[in-house]
Amino acid sequence: MKTDKKMIVSQYCLDRRRFLAVAGGVTLIRHISFADTGNPPELTRWAFASDTHVPTTDKSDNPPRGHYFFDPLGNTRRTMAAIAADAPVGVVITGDLARLTGQVGDYKNVADCLAALPKKCPVFQALGNHDHRANFRQVFKKTPGIHPAVEKRYITVIDTPPVRFILLDSLRRVNEGNGELGLSQRMWLKDFLATHDDTPTLIFLHHNLSPKGGAIADALLFFEIIRPIRSVKAVVFGHSHVYRYAALDDIHLINLPAVGYSFNAKVPVGWVEAKLTSDGGRFKLNVIDGPSPANRIRELTWRQ
Ligand SMILES: [Zn+2]
Repeated sequence: MKTDKKMIVSQYCLDRRRFLAVAGGVTLIRHISFADTGNPPELTRWAFASDTHVPTTDKSDNPPRGHYFFDPLGNTRRTMAAIAADAPVGVVITGDLARLTGQVGDYKNVADCLAALPKKCPVFQALGNHDHRANFRQVFKKTPGIHPAVEKRYITVIDTPPVRFILLDSLRRVNEGNGELGLSQRMWLKDFLATHDDTPTLIFLHHNLSPKGGAIADALLFFEIIRPIRSVKAVVFGHSHVYRYAALDDIHLINLPAVGYSFNAKVPVGWVEAKLTSDGGRFKLNVIDGPSPANRIRELTWRQ
C-alpha cells in the first residue's frame, strides 16, 4: 500500500450531532463534512489491542502457572505509553479489559492506564468474558462512538473514513470461557449491514474465530450474516492470546495478541498498529515483551 505525501489522513470525526438516528437508534445516517479538504480521507491509522486483563491489585511478582510475560498492569501502561508516543486516530481494545471478574477496581486501573493517551485519541472498548457490563459502565460513564440500543449489549459504531468499525459484545457470562452474540444482537447487525452504505467495514469482538467456528456459540450464524455482505472486509478479535491471521472465504480474521500475558513462552505480548484504506490494511505488530518475530508487518487487501 502506498502512503505518499498527498494522502489525506483522517481524524476521528464521528460526532453525535452529525448523525441522525431513526428507528430507535437502529439506522444511522452519516453526515460528515470534510470542510478542510473537500475530499474524504484516504487513510486512517489506529492502534488495536486486546486482553489487557488489568487487575485491581498488582500481582505480577507471582504469575499464575503457564502465564508468560505476566504483567497486566505494567504491560498495559507500556502499551499505552508506546501508542501515545505517536498517537493514532484512536484505539480499539477488544475485551478482557479486566483481570477475571470485571471488578470496579480493575476498570479504575484501566482508566488510569488510558489516561496516558492524549485527549484527541479516543479509546473504544469491547467487552470480553472477563468483563462485567455494569461495573464497566460505572467507571466508563461517557464513552465515544454511537451505541445502538440493543438490550444487555454494549455495541459501538465508529465511522473513521475511509472505513467503518462495528464493535460487538460477545460477553455471555462473566468469567466463563465461551461467549455468544445472541439473537437480538445478530438481528441488529443483520439489519444494520443491510441498511447502510458500502463503506469498508471491520467488525470487532472479543472471542476468537476460525473459518470453522470459534469461541462464540453462534459463530456460524454470525458468519451467515457477514458472508454475503461485501462491505464486511475483516473481523478483529482477541481472547486466544495469540497473534494470528486466517480467513473466512475472503473475509480476513485478525487475531490480536494479548497485552496482559501470553500462554506460551514463544508468543509475545503487544499491540498492533493498523493503517487502513478503502482497499486494504497494513498491520504492524509492536512487541511489549517476549520474542519478536522477524516479520512484524502484514498487508491485507479487502475483498471487493
Ligand atoms: Zn477472553
